Amino acid sequence: MKASWKSCIALLCVLIACIAWSPAVLAVPAVAQTAIGPIVAAEIGPLGTNKTAEQIANDPTVKAAIGAAWNDSNADNATTRHEEGGWIYEDADGNLTVGRWPAGNRSGINATPPMPPVGGQVVGEFHTHPNWHPPDGKDEAGTEWKQGPSDKDKNAKTPGTTGIVKDRSGTTSY
Ligand SMILES: [Zn+2]
Repeated sequence: MKASWKSCIALLCVLIACIAWSPAVLAVPAVAQTAIGPIVAAEIGPLGTNKTAEQIANDPTVKAAIGAAWNDSNADNATTRHEEGGWIYEDADGNLTVGRWPAGNRSGINATPPMPPVGGQVVGEFHTHPNWHPPDGKDEAGTEWKQGPSDKDKNAKTPGTTGIVKDRSGTTSY
């Protein structure tokens, strides 16, 4: 009987300790809890304004660069048409800038090593697909081309960044 009372009191003490402890834990601000541990970027790193894919695609600097790349692609010339593209950088102030790649070939382009502005980072890339023709993708020679980004394009893109493909149907983000 005596031992049973002791364990009963011990249990009561544990219960009281639990009740006293839980509000203290709940009172810890959420910010303090998330500040501890590794920082995992949902989109891209902590620099700048963390723009969405839509904001990147609609940025005037990016739009102008894609337009210039499309012009340089000679899309209307069946023999000289080729892919053009480049990196989209975010600078230290959160503004977007572009670094073009050397001209590609008829159906491919190689990215150069990124050279973001000091304090900046890569947030995206763009390139042109001058071969696809509406409505079925077939060019003058009857060769059928895929609309939008290829699987290779998707696999080559750095996760968390925005890819943009420009063809005759418009721009597609991926
Ligand atoms: Zn492509």
